[in-house]
Amino acid sequence: MSDAERKMQFLYQLRSKGVTDKRVLTAMEKIDRGAFVRGLFADRAYEDMPLPINCGQTISQPSVVGLMTQALNVQPRDKVLEVGTGSGYQAAILSVLARRVYTVERHRRLVNEVREVFECQNLPNITVITGDGSHGLPDQAPFDRILVTAAAEDPPGPLLAQLRVGGIMVLPVGQSDAVQSLIKVTRTDDGFDYDELRPVRFVPLLEGLGKE
Ligand code: SAM
Repeated sequence: MSDAERKMQFLYQLRSKGVTDKRVLTAMEKIDRGAFVRGLFADRAYEDMPLPINCGQTISQPSVVGLMTQALNVQPRDKVLEVGTGSGYQAAILSVLARRVYTVERHRRLVNEVREVFECQNLPNITVITGDGSHGLPDQAPFDRILVTAAAEDPPGPLLAQLRVGGIMVLPVGQSDAVQSLIKVTRTDDGFDYDELRPVRFVPLLEGLGKE
C-alpha cells in the first residue's frame, strides 16, 4: 500500500469511529503517528489500535485520541495541559490546535525520547515536564483545557482546581482493572458539570515518578 493510500485508510477509520470534527481530522492528518512508534511496531502505526511503547506503557488507539481531542473542543488561543505524555502523539495533535501545550509524564526515559521527537517534528509550542501530573502544574495554571490519558478513580482535585471557569477537562475514570468511563468536566461559575461520553480502557494514573 502506498503512503497516500495508508493515510486515506487511516482517516477513513477515524471517521467511521465517529471522529468528524474537521479541525481534529486535519491535525491528525498532519501529525504522522509513525514518528511516535518505535521498533517492532512501527509498521502498525497506521492501524487503529493501541501499541506498546517503552517503560511498559502504550500509545493510545488513534480513534480514541481523535474522540478525546474532539470532546476537548480546543480553541486556537488555548493553553492546554496533558497528563500522561507517553509517546507524545496526543500532545503533538493538541499542539496543532492550541497556542501552547504542557505535557507531564512520570517516566524520565519517555520524556527524553519525546523531547527529541518534538524537536525533529518541529513542534516548538509543547513543553514536556517530568513529574506526577495528578498534581497539575500550579505555576502555569489556570488551563483552558486539560486532557488526562491515564485512568484515576475520580478526577484529581488539583486538576479541577487548575481548570479555568468555562474550561473543559476530558479524562478516563474508574478502576484500572475494569472498563472505565471517559468523562467530560466543564467548569461553570458555581461548580462543575459532568458528562459521561463512552467506555474506555486506559493504564492507571500512578503516584510519584517511574523507575526509568
Ligand atoms: N498520551 C499518550 C500518547 O499519546 O502516547 C498515551 C499515554 S499512556 C496511555 C498513559 C501515560 O500516562 C503513560 O506514559 C504513563 O506513564 C503516564 N502516567 C501515569 N500516571 C501518571 C502521572 N501521575 N503523571 C504523569 N504521567 C502519568
